[in-house]
Amino acid sequence: MSPAQSSPAQAREAYDVVVVGAGFAGMYMLHRLRGLGFSARVYEQGGGVGGTWYWNRYPGARCDVESMQYSYSFSEELQQEWDWSERYAPQAEILKYANHVADRFDLRRDIQFDTRVERAVFDEQANAWSVKISDGKMVEAKFVVLATGCLSNARKPDIQGLDNFKGPVYHTGNWPHEPVDFAGLRVGLIGTGSSGIQSAPIIAEQARHLTVFQRTANFSIPARNAALTDEERNAFRNNYPEIRRFAREIARNGIHAEQPDRGALDDSEDARRAKYKARWDRGGLTFMSAYNNLGLDLAANDTAANYVRSKITEIVKDATTAKLLQPNSHPIGTKRICIDTDYFATFNRPNVSLVDIKTNPIEEITANAVRVAGTDHEVDALVLATGFDAMTGSVARIDIRGRGGRTLNQKWAEGPKTYLGLMSAGFPNLFIITGPGSPSVLSNMIVSIEQHVDWIADCLVHMRQQGLATMEAGGEAEDKWVAHVNEIAHGTLYPQANSWYMGANIPGKPRIFMPYIGGVGIYRRICDEVAAKGYEGFVMTRAEQPRRVVTG
Ligand code: FAD
Ligand code: NAP
Repeated sequence: MSPAQSSPAQAREAYDVVVVGAGFAGMYMLHRLRGLGFSARVYEQGGGVGGTWYWNRYPGARCDVESMQYSYSFSEELQQEWDWSERYAPQAEILKYANHVADRFDLRRDIQFDTRVERAVFDEQANAWSVKISDGKMVEAKFVVLATGCLSNARKPDIQGLDNFKGPVYHTGNWPHEPVDFAGLRVGLIGTGSSGIQSAPIIAEQARHLTVFQRTANFSIPARNAALTDEERNAFRNNYPEIRRFAREIARNGIHAEQPDRGALDDSEDARRAKYKARWDRGGLTFMSAYNNLGLDLAANDTAANYVRSKITEIVKDATTAKLLQPNSHPIGTKRICIDTDYFATFNRPNVSLVDIKTNPIEEITANAVRVAGTDHEVDALVLATGFDAMTGSVARIDIRGRGGRTLNQKWAEGPKTYLGLMSAGFPNLFIITGPGSPSVLSNMIVSIEQHVDWIADCLVHMRQQGLATMEAGGEAEDKWVAHVNEIAHGTLYPQANSWYMGANIPGKPRIFMPYIGGVGIYRRICDEVAAKGYEGFVMTRAEQPRRVVTG
């Protein structure tokens, strides 16, 4: 495919593909496109590559999928040459890795930083997208790929008086690039999801006092982070082909680990406790794969939840605080499980206090305090670890107009609708990486990113070879997929939690379980079969015969 054409009168930049976002998804998409001879331009609103790891610089930020697995697999040289320092690398190191990848594959020359994509309008005559970027320029592209991230739209809470606060206010998802020094300060931390749970212990070490405002107590498993030995690194490096294959094809969540062979109630109480203890002592996300029915059966789930509650009681010395820290409003794992370093023990420090804002929500933030149940908790700085408008938030901030001028926001008003999480009917030549309706946030995301990028790259090659001008999700295939995604989600315990998977953290957002919960291996097979059957369920047209179905 040659670069999209434009007449001299309209002379504007034209590309085969515009990619939005330069996180791990956008970077790999660019690499594949260039390798296939497509012209491509990436626009990134941040000042550098890395996405999540560019923005989330809060104290304690690190991955919760082990670094030897939370890394690209597309280049054997890359995975052999990069040395991860710790079991879970800190944010700065992951960002360094992203920069290394950008340099190694010479990506920067096709990325424009500090540039937002604001609007994308599909021109049905030209079969191309007209894209408006934040410097006011319009560019043209045959295809647009949204690599905008699922957790990239930091959510500032609607708490009365927040703007009146006189001290500094930080959001974990948009942390300053300069070091933040909390020494001598009284810090208020709102939010106890993964970000709050990672940052609290470090802030507590620095601050004069830390007050944690907790709405929902969360389940958290110790990370047991440690420096990686050469032996551990080599164990991965020597077995990468098999480890990566297993992660892609066998493990539901894209993580190579021992797989459960039975349900929690199939073991005696003693055997179960021993298994939970072994997983707790080993640390990390694999706690949840101790048994194969923890996400399905409430009685089974209770056994794991009770184990974690008992550990909280063991760790936290003050009985009232321990009780308050015990999650009791959702089954374990139905909100993203947290992985921590000394989170619960932090509450044994004399300079840390916990305030329950579930029973009594924050009334107001004043110039120097957070007011709860008539009591002013005085603070000098505020940290908002209040999460993201997840999965759809960054897509919704772009004014996307498809066939007939219909906006994607109109179409998705009652919840996102996609076929395979990759495309949405009525929006031709617009792909989404790790979009709603794909395993995405329920997986090791680099596994899911690479799978989507490779699928999209193959699809573009197919279109070029067949001389096709447009491709979009067929309405019927999309409806069936949306129903399937919902049906399997509702066969699990996940919809029982008010989670960001459900959109429940954003007032007014439709309550739909957004990711596909069937597992990355099954999902990959479905995507491959669809492609093998000539992109079954998608509608493709040739340039001279708009809207003529040639496949699907
Ligand atoms: P992102 O990294 O979010 O990148 C998207 C980019 O698009 C951003 O840089 C954004 O600025 C840009 N963008 C968005 N809209 C526009 C626009 N309109 N114009 C221009 N640019 C735009 N996942 C795991 O699997 N394991 C982990 O351990 C893990 N840890 C995490 C820790 C934190 C603190 C967070 C927040 C998430 C974590 N995740 C983890 C999920 C993580 O988001 C993904 O693993 C991965 O980094 C996503 O890459 P991405 O490229 O899809 O999106
Ligand atoms: P989150 O999980 O959505 O947690 C946000 C927290 O803020 C919750 O405790 C929430 O309470 C609270 N909150 C939100 N709005 C509030 C309000 N108005 N008033 C009071 N409390 C409010 O967000 P996150 O911690 O940033 O994590 C998001 C996701 O990013 C994670 O689930 C994970 O996928 C990823 N992540 C991973 C890591 C890692 O360990 N590698 C670290 C950080 C993030 P409720 O629960 O009651 O809504």
